[in-house]
Amino acid sequence: MREKLKIAFFLGGGCGGCDMAAMDAVQAILDLQRLEIAFWSPIVTDNKYEDLDAIPDGAIDVGFYSGMIRLSDQELAAKTMRRKCRTLIAYGTCAALGGVPGLGNFHTRKEILHTVYFDTCSTENPAGITPQTECLEGECELTLPEFYGEVRPLKAVVEVDHFLGGCPPHHSFVVQIIYNILEKGLEPPDPWITEGKTVCEACARNPVAKGEQRKPVGAVKRLTDGVPDGDRCLLEQGYLCLGSLTQGSCGALCPRVNVPCAGCGGPIPGVKDFGLRAVSAVASLLENEELVAQIPGPAKLFYRYTLPASLFGKKVK
Ligand code: SF4
Ligand code: SF4
Repeated sequence: MREKLKIAFFLGGGCGGCDMAAMDAVQAILDLQRLEIAFWSPIVTDNKYEDLDAIPDGAIDVGFYSGMIRLSDQELAAKTMRRKCRTLIAYGTCAALGGVPGLGNFHTRKEILHTVYFDTCSTENPAGITPQTECLEGECELTLPEFYGEVRPLKAVVEVDHFLGGCPPHHSFVVQIIYNILEKGLEPPDPWITEGKTVCEACARNPVAKGEQRKPVGAVKRLTDGVPDGDRCLLEQGYLCLGSLTQGSCGALCPRVNVPCAGCGGPIPGVKDFGLRAVSAVASLLENEELVAQIPGPAKLFYRYTLPASLFGKKVK
């Protein structure tokens, strides 16, 4: 039997939801008994960067990096995780594709800082102070990480071995990954750990699976417009569900509870730009051109999780 598998979790620029999902899996992880959690910060322990840096290079078998990279300290930690971990997983949609914080790339750094430090109604900043990476407070020199001009996914900073979508990924994926490594090594056919099937394939509402033709979309609706029919395809009803191009290893959890798929699982294999493909998938089903104008915030809707990893990437000026 192999020695204990050493794993590590690090949260960069994310909400912590991915770590919470992993915590849901903790009992099952511990039941495997052949596992050592070498580092899990900042969500579970108060370990610092220095503690991660002190681990010998290559000493961790599998590292889970969640969150995107916008700050210089996140970049440093990502590079350190890469050195320490023999296998590095971009864990969750922020790490894999930029995620929801990646929507910040629709705005320049200057616009974001101006909104936060000058424009909001609760801000009073008569001296016009914005964050500096260094300042003197009495005799103390204080430093802050640099706020970069864009959000980047993990693969833009270091080499990534595997990607796992989901916002957050279902906790069963964490158990499955660890189990797979322990039993047979982690060798999925694709760098994405999830299966590559679409959410539509997993969805009980799928008209094609019921032997029916997909009906064109006659009206664009939001969830605030009413309660969708619980059996019919949400897209046919006008709720812009992106299940046809999203990886469906989640088992179509959102459509099951009457919520359209927003694409957090990441694109199915072969889709280079999720947003462009989503435009094409939805537009091809609209009954008429006038409906395009009814799509709420189309750029942010179709690129909700993937902008930093898309062909556009970011707003330049
Ligand atoms: S992928 Fe979702 S759950 Fe995970 S850190 Fe990002 S926003 Fe949070
Ligand atoms: S578009 Fe959405 S609701 Fe319709 S079959 Fe696909 S996942 Fe299900």
